[in-house]
Amino acid sequence: MVVGAGLAGVRSVEALRARGFGGGITLIGEERHRPYDRPPLSKGVLLGETDSTVVDSDLDALEVDFRAGVSAKGLHPGVVETTEGELAYDGLVVATGARPIRLRGDGPQHVVRTIDDALRLRSLLSEGTRVAVIGAGWIGAEVATAARRAGCAVTVVEAAATPLAAALGRVGAYTAPWYAEAGVDLRLGTMVASVEHGGLTLADGSALEADVVVTGVGVRPATEWLAGSGIRLDNGVVTDEHLRTSLPDVVAVGDCAAWWSRRYGVRLRVEHWDTALGAPDVAVATLLGDAAVYDPVPYFWSEQFGHMVQYAGHHDGARPIRRGDPEAEGKPRWAVCWMTEDDRLAAVLSVNRPRDLVQGRRLIEGGQRLDVDRLTDPAIALRDC
Ligand code: FAD
Repeated sequence: MVVGAGLAGVRSVEALRARGFGGGITLIGEERHRPYDRPPLSKGVLLGETDSTVVDSDLDALEVDFRAGVSAKGLHPGVVETTEGELAYDGLVVATGARPIRLRGDGPQHVVRTIDDALRLRSLLSEGTRVAVIGAGWIGAEVATAARRAGCAVTVVEAAATPLAAALGRVGAYTAPWYAEAGVDLRLGTMVASVEHGGLTLADGSALEADVVVTGVGVRPATEWLAGSGIRLDNGVVTDEHLRTSLPDVVAVGDCAAWWSRRYGVRLRVEHWDTALGAPDVAVATLLGDAAVYDPVPYFWSEQFGHMVQYAGHHDGARPIRRGDPEAEGKPRWAVCWMTEDDRLAAVLSVNRPRDLVQGRRLIEGGQRLDVDRLTDPAIALRDC
């Protein structure tokens, strides 16, 4: 049985069949939609380029009993309690993803997590509409991009001193000029106290008027239904490197799973598409009795203000080194390489330099030492450093 019908859920079903599992599979999901991709929600969908992002997967051919609009409410050994009664399982994949954090206040606040969220918000983005976006993270930047494209007057309010601070630390500062260039009023170091009807109250007591408020301050793993089940939870469902949870015959994948990374020697919970795509095959192998290990170099991308931003690796404790000039005239093409103490590549951020991302990812996987002086020269291919 698979609980959660997002990308990780549907990939789990596919992986079960691909590995020859011939038994019955039930897939339950609380949304009333077939499984769909979320990255386009804050890009193509908000921009009006597409209305549907349904995953290309033939549920009939997979012979899966897909139950849309059904939520899991609790878990006991061998049984999932759902809004439609109890369902027994021999093996269980937990793939319930994450839910957006909302802020205090009675005023309406939009989030972008589901296709319904995105279509609702899109219908409000029009010429002259005053939009306040809370959070200059990945989602905030993409929402601001779409809102400006629609002709809205956009203010982004960010508590940290730079955009993308949680993900990139001070490196995120290089993206701050993109906001002004796009005509967005970016207010850094500004805390929101509450969301009110007609806008925001800021922590200093002042008001920011807005017709539409979008909150993009992060997500929490959707694990509330597992409370009391005895499964170990700590910033998500805790798993080992095989994606096995603390309960027998239960594995976890995607945004809700905090897995042990053999590569980095820490527990990681990575809220990105590539994890939801890749983890299910390993989790399903584990359920079926193989000792596969999930040990990827994490990867994600974002499209904001006309720039393709890509990241691979894990940079905790590594030092950032710049490659190319973020302030260059025209379309900037630059990267940041985070280096370990012994000059190995820990992570790479590339902006409009997809080759650096591809080559950097291989170098991270390979683990070879690099020449840091050569690395600062963007004319030298990363693989030749
Ligand atoms: P989800 O996609 O969240 O799916 C989980 C499903 O489980 C949901 O449908 C949920 O309703 C359901 N569920 C939850 N609780 C229950 C329950 N109790 N019972 C039954 N069903 C339940 N990643 C990138 O790498 N690049 C990007 O550019 C990017 N852009 C993004 C843009 C947006 C707007 C969003 C929201 C995410 C973006 N991501 C991006 C992240 C990526 O989409 C997620 O990492 C991915 O969707 C995670 O897949 P998942 O299947 O683990 O979880």
